[in-house]
Amino acid sequence: MKKRLFVIFTAILLVFIVLGTCFVDFLYKKTTQTEFSMGTLVSFALFGAQKDALLQASDLLSEIENASSVTISDSQASKLNALGTTSNPFLLEQAEVCLDVFLKSNGAFDFSIYPVTSLWAIGTPNAKKPESAELNEALLLVGSQNITLKNGVLTLGQAQKVDFGAVGKGYACDKLVALLRDKTRGGILSVGGSIAVWGKSGLTKNSYKIAVRNPFSTDYAGTVLLSEGFVSTSGAYERFFEQDGTRYHHIIDPKTAYPAQSDLASATVIASSGALSDALSTACFVLGADEGKKLLEKYNAQGVFITEKAEIIVVGNVNFTANEGFEVVK
Ligand code: AMP
Ligand code: MG
Repeated sequence: MKKRLFVIFTAILLVFIVLGTCFVDFLYKKTTQTEFSMGTLVSFALFGAQKDALLQASDLLSEIENASSVTISDSQASKLNALGTTSNPFLLEQAEVCLDVFLKSNGAFDFSIYPVTSLWAIGTPNAKKPESAELNEALLLVGSQNITLKNGVLTLGQAQKVDFGAVGKGYACDKLVALLRDKTRGGILSVGGSIAVWGKSGLTKNSYKIAVRNPFSTDYAGTVLLSEGFVSTSGAYERFFEQDGTRYHHIIDPKTAYPAQSDLASATVIASSGALSDALSTACFVLGADEGKKLLEKYNAQGVFITEKAEIIVVGNVNFTANEGFEVVK
């Protein structure tokens, strides 16, 4: 009799465990999507998402792209460059971050670099090394100190042109997370080199593993464990062309008008917002390890820098694990 009761009890328990597991799987059901937007691959992995979550996320992404992209001729950003002024909320929010990081990075980050980057045209079929006279002329227009953001109006200096390429992908992460937080239990999304994680992927799991790319090949240099936040990476490997045996990449030092040549091969930054992590990763790549670290400290942000010598420098409190072949030196 006792044995029979035990068998029945065990059977009921098993049924509950199976049902419970199915219920948890259902609650945290994973939905994925990859699309092309903002000139890059955008991927979503959502846990326990409402039906319309991905559709709304795609619509929002198109809205941000149509406002911010300087390669779309009738975007708000192109109109800003033609007219010198805008009140578009997406652009104002991005400009606020750009102007702040410009000041704190002593001009290493400057979104008015556009006249120079358009001469290089890196990432387009017309990429070429410009004449130094052309670069010097374009440099005369560069300088975010001539840009004002007052009473909801952004105004460029005479003939200035801006490009949101260094902040836009992270900014898109901010906007998408704000939308998806209430429509999911958790998720991870990436817009090119910018990543956001939030909420939970399962009943107990609450940390997401984010791979940090090896800037010297196509594998990974290590992983960051993060439960909530924004991570962006800037590296010379992202976009470049070669001419006469020299490699020219897409991150320009506003002091020289040439591709930045610091001691870093890549800069990964973890910050309180996507726009900030994106702007800071670009700025750190230009500044190099020592000045980059000081900049991150001003924002209470963290980082994983990979130097040209393939050494890893961790800035602040980051849960980082290096892969074989890489060593954390600081
Ligand atoms: P990211 O990949 O986020 O580092 O951004 C690189 C993009 O930002 C480039 O493709 C340019 O459009 C733009 N850019 C290049 N150099 C700078 C700079 N020094 N400051 C701000 N934006 C830049
Ligand atoms: Mg950036």
